[in-house]
Amino acid sequence: MALSQLLLHPVIAHIAPTDMSAVIDDLQQIGFIAHPLSLAIDKTAVYYQVGEHFLQLVPFLGCSPFIHTEPTDDNSPFCYVQFPSVSNTVQFIHGLTSTFPRCPHCKHTLTDQHLLNSHWNDQYICPTCQTSSLLYQLNWRQAAGFSCCFITINNIYQHEAVPDIKLLKLLEKHTPCSWNYFYLHR
Ligand SMILES: [Zn+2]
Repeated sequence: MALSQLLLHPVIAHIAPTDMSAVIDDLQQIGFIAHPLSLAIDKTAVYYQVGEHFLQLVPFLGCSPFIHTEPTDDNSPFCYVQFPSVSNTVQFIHGLTSTFPRCPHCKHTLTDQHLLNSHWNDQYICPTCQTSSLLYQLNWRQAAGFSCCFITINNIYQHEAVPDIKLLKLLEKHTPCSWNYFYLHR
């Protein structure tokens, strides 16, 4: 079954929070998540029901969104949050259709197919402005991300909801860098 997701991650690919349980505690405090869910999806991850302030911290752009926030009898999609076990290796996550990034300097779209198979720490030299960037520093236009720690909100469609700055700032307290987000449909 196709799954639409909003993923949050530190902007520096190899940086992750050192204590994920402290992140979870803080996110519970601000009402982003509520109690754990027992979902047998991925044994290495933990799942939480969204909290009472979820819709303020991840505002939906349409008026009066209707979302399920807990499992339903008819198996309707519902929003829940997934925390990974932090990995030592950087993963490059992107959707089924390949996404071409933009050069962060000159904004030129980079249509090089090899990019999708490159290592996250590879240098890429923009053919237009000749500026060198690491692969993960390219502008992936909120369709792909590099990280060893993705916090995932499940059943959110692309650009349907956007994480509030308050949520991103709270996550930033747990890493020496800011956080970014992207959408995935897989
Ligand atoms: Zn460029």
